[in-house]
Amino acid sequence: MPAPEPGLVSSLLRDQLGRRLHDLRVSVTDRCNFRCSYCMPKSVFDRDYVFLPQSSLLSFEEIHRLVRVFLMLGTEKVRITGGEPLLRKHLERLIEMLASLGTPSGKPLDLTLTTNGALLRRKARNLREAGLSRLTVSLDAIDDRVFRKMNDVEFPVADVLDGLNAANEAGFTDIKVNMVVQRGVNEHQILPMIEYFRHSGHILRFIEFMDVGSSNGWTMTSVFSSSEILKLVESQYRIHQLAENYAGEVARRWAFDDGSLEFGLIASVSEPFCQSCTRARLSTDGRLYSCLFASEGWDLRSLLRGGTPDGDLAASIAAFWHQRLDRYSELRTEATSSLRKRQKIEMSYIGG
Ligand code: SAM
Ligand code: SF4
Ligand code: SF4
Repeated sequence: MPAPEPGLVSSLLRDQLGRRLHDLRVSVTDRCNFRCSYCMPKSVFDRDYVFLPQSSLLSFEEIHRLVRVFLMLGTEKVRITGGEPLLRKHLERLIEMLASLGTPSGKPLDLTLTTNGALLRRKARNLREAGLSRLTVSLDAIDDRVFRKMNDVEFPVADVLDGLNAANEAGFTDIKVNMVVQRGVNEHQILPMIEYFRHSGHILRFIEFMDVGSSNGWTMTSVFSSSEILKLVESQYRIHQLAENYAGEVARRWAFDDGSLEFGLIASVSEPFCQSCTRARLSTDGRLYSCLFASEGWDLRSLLRGGTPDGDLAASIAAFWHQRLDRYSELRTEATSSLRKRQKIEMSYIGG
């Protein structure tokens, strides 16, 4: 990738399609204690797989500094992810460092985290006390056998549910529960998940299976679409659509008429939302990506470690964003997915 032209820092920073740099996803580890077949299949992420060495990882101080620079450029929301972010040692220290940052407009930073929930029982209270605002927990099935098969490490569903309870007890509210739906694998879990989470206060979100990375065996036919999910739910319950929380929200929001559940549909494949995609991703080793499906990242770690001052870092990130044209999901077909297979980056590295 050519070096971006410096000097484009602006409070009205926009990419080539007019999109702001509103959200940053930060991957704090490329490792995970699960082997979900749609993300880190065992056949690839096996004993011989070489994960990043400790020295390659951005330190908490480096992440804190970069996030501060992103806030200068208009970013208002930061999501900590991975890999499994709760595997990163002393993560609560990073949360505490980031929670103390404010946006230039004086708004508090919206700081959130996505986890598989396996370590939540142990960590929820510390995360809350460190200042984490919100939490998303991934859970693909409520049936123990289906869940164990999907995480592929025999992890019991009861322990994730216990982690969710721990998060409740720690004071987290509006917890989101993410379910990736794969045809032939777990679509029969949609209604049982709904029954389980009705009256829980959690927001259930159904995500279409995406062709991220190059190892998850994705085909268009394995996508159980949001409209199919909606049809299924409507056949059983009375529901109504809710307004967007904010312009460009990726989930379409729905609620049960009896107030027992809010759920969201994330139609990343069948109804792509690239036009309003305001997300950048920072990989575990400090490369910046402008799209989940990008093949090359911008090496911010070298700039950080090379002594680049904040102003120049900001200029470099602004220039990177300014030249952004990504809209992969709008262009995706079965053919583009397999054509690009070799170049795509794994989600566990770039941050889901
Ligand atoms: N390990 C954490 C977790 O599972 O919540 C955080 C990282 S994970 C990569 C972030 C999110 O990406 C999870 O909700 C996961 O279900 C989702 N994800 C991973 N691979 C996916 C795929 N191929 N299609 C759609 N969503 C995917
Ligand atoms: Fe791990 Fe999350 Fe990927 Fe599953 S989706 S393998 S829990 S990083
Ligand atoms: Fe954003 Fe890329 Fe996904 Fe489109 S394909 S919504 S540009 S991350």
